[in-house]
Amino acid sequence: MVIVSLCILALLFLGLGGRAVWIHAREKEARERAHLLETSWEGAPPLDVQLLTINDYSRPGIPLEQINGIAIHYTANPGATAQQNRDYFENLKDSHITQASSHFIVGLEGEIVQCIPSSEMSYATNERNVDTLSIECCHPDETGKFTPATYTSVVDLTAWLCGRFMLSTDDLIRHYDVTGKNCPKYFVEDPKAWEQFKEDVHTKMEEQKGET
Ligand SMILES: [Zn+2]
Repeated sequence: MVIVSLCILALLFLGLGGRAVWIHAREKEARERAHLLETSWEGAPPLDVQLLTINDYSRPGIPLEQINGIAIHYTANPGATAQQNRDYFENLKDSHITQASSHFIVGLEGEIVQCIPSSEMSYATNERNVDTLSIECCHPDETGKFTPATYTSVVDLTAWLCGRFMLSTDDLIRHYDVTGKNCPKYFVEDPKAWEQFKEDVHTKMEEQKGET
């Protein structure tokens, strides 16, 4: 009886150890894949890559099988920086407050922080998480309007992603278009500004094509 119990304990121990090794291997593989992908992004705007830890609350590590669109969001926390938003996503692994994240966060100075590799799913756009990349934009006040620096970087990044993933401006969506949520506030409340944004992305795409 004792021997049987010991055997069961040993098997359990080996099983758990094996699982830990498996999880470690999966994380290592994801990191390497992300590194390969991001370092081959020639011509991309400067990206501050600070990938989140793989966890169930902000970076599920689920492969993104296809990319059919790019979803634009606003952070809904006036004055918060890209770094603060990124750290909030990272801390969800411990706080478990909600499930949320974004592939990219564009800050008030136009800086771009990447949180999730484009090969993996983010938790940003509800049922379109499965086939879109997400961009969160910081904003200085309650109007939700982006600073000129943020706007320029979002246009550059979006145009570049469209080029890389063979998308057009018809593939750009607001979070609002998926769920009706007032996000990104400024582009929902001012549909002309949203149309102008798509035009600016189109112009930038033409410019980028000319550069290559
Ligand atoms: Zn949103």
